[in-house]
Amino acid sequence: MSFEQDLLAAKQRIVTYSHKCYERGWSPATSSNYSERVAEDKVAVTCSGLDKGELTTTDVMLVDLEGQPLSEGKPSAETLLHTQLYKRFSDCHAILHTHSPQACVISRYLDQAEVLELKGYEIAKAFTGISSHETTLHIPIFENSQDIPALAAAVDVYCDQHVGVRAYIIRGHGLYIWGPTMNDCWRHLEAFEYMLECQLLEIRMQS
Ligand SMILES: [Zn+2]
Repeated sequence: MSFEQDLLAAKQRIVTYSHKCYERGWSPATSSNYSERVAEDKVAVTCSGLDKGELTTTDVMLVDLEGQPLSEGKPSAETLLHTQLYKRFSDCHAILHTHSPQACVISRYLDQAEVLELKGYEIAKAFTGISSHETTLHIPIFENSQDIPALAAAVDVYCDQHVGVRAYIIRGHGLYIWGPTMNDCWRHLEAFEYMLECQLLEIRMQS
């Protein structure tokens, strides 16, 4: 396939999963952004500030790994959080960033926590490379900031210090998750959102 065909296919996948995220209530009010690697140093990413339930392929643009536009449009304000992951993880080919209520609420509720521990979940096997429920996922929680380069640098430092980072939460904001393909990334996202909902239910039952 040509680069143009690959790019169109990536845009179509982004649109499909954008609509799915919107329908689940994970991407309200023009929030969230999604991307897919099209070449080693080129990424298709959603344009800034669009209704994710109405997204079309013309709302997805091309940027380089510094987040600089390679096609017409204004890339998402959080593009550098995507390119940071593509630069760091060569096997990262798709990223979904949602603003789900559960990611928002749990990180506000655990307002002093720097890491969310997800332990003993069967559905953790949905993550590429995990084959048993006897796995504890450590999900870092970063403080929210409008300074995206600083936030991207904080994620980079955390990844320097920890192996096997699979996702992260930004407090009161949402989550970032990635995978080797968009299909894998979606499966990871569904599993992660499910575990967050379960954690919230547990907290409710304990109070
Ligand atoms: Zn966001």
